[in-house]
Amino acid sequence: MPAELLNPHQLPISPRRAGAGTDGLDEVTLERHDRLSRIRRGELGTIHSWELVTAVDGPGTRLTIFFSGCPLRCLYCHNPDTIEAKDGQDVPLDHLVQKIRRYESVFRATRGGITLSGGEVLQQPKLAARLLKAAKHMVVHTAIDTSGFLGANVTDQMMGDIDLVLLDVKAGDEETYHRVTGQRLQPTIDFGDRLSAHGVEIWGRFVLVPGLTDAWDNVENVADIMARWSSLSRVEVLPFHQMGRDKWEALGRRYELEDTQPPSAELLERVRDQFRARGLTVY
Ligand code: SF4
Repeated sequence: MPAELLNPHQLPISPRRAGAGTDGLDEVTLERHDRLSRIRRGELGTIHSWELVTAVDGPGTRLTIFFSGCPLRCLYCHNPDTIEAKDGQDVPLDHLVQKIRRYESVFRATRGGITLSGGEVLQQPKLAARLLKAAKHMVVHTAIDTSGFLGANVTDQMMGDIDLVLLDVKAGDEETYHRVTGQRLQPTIDFGDRLSAHGVEIWGRFVLVPGLTDAWDNVENVADIMARWSSLSRVEVLPFHQMGRDKWEALGRRYELEDTQPPSAELLERVRDQFRARGLTVY
């Protein structure tokens, strides 16, 4: 999602907010054992919402499906209501496939496709794999939007069904990454290396948060990590915003970035220049 573009609601593009809900997707209620075995087979997923968007989440018009559940705890999370898997709704695979089919002609006309986002899509790898395969059967472009922390869940076979990965590199060293997310950076680097070796296109993403991720050395490290991926075609530097704040409040959770301001235009440009210095295409 290039920062210069506008989303359908004409708001400046910055870290994505999940869709409004699961309207049009039928939630199902199943007996526990049946539910778990269907989840294991990828026939059932825990979904937060879906949204039809243009000029964000990949090329063309996208059907973005937000999966529920995430192993990270980003301080700036703009979709904290997607973090807990239990807060999602059970939606069968075939309902999601029907939804993709319904928009096939839109995808064809706009060179768009589907984007699996979250939460963390790779926390439900079986469902993701089956959805991606179904989309490829329809010759629909596929993207996943991920932190890469669970990249090891992507099999080589599944990788063959992914056209584009929107890969968030949230910080450039383990210490900062842990402060921002509560998790480790290395799995993201390993996943990017694998994608690159397989020639899967990557759009690298970096959320610029004043006082948290804006240190010169941190940005240098993120830029170095992205620059080593030969299949990386663009970098999107996403300015931090406060649009997720109301969600944290609604969830009754402490929001540590309450007093943090969005980055200035100068800071944004300085950081973009750090990426450009490596010959990367930056938005
Ligand atoms: S990766 Fe971070 S920003 Fe994305 S849903 Fe998880 S906690 Fe939120």
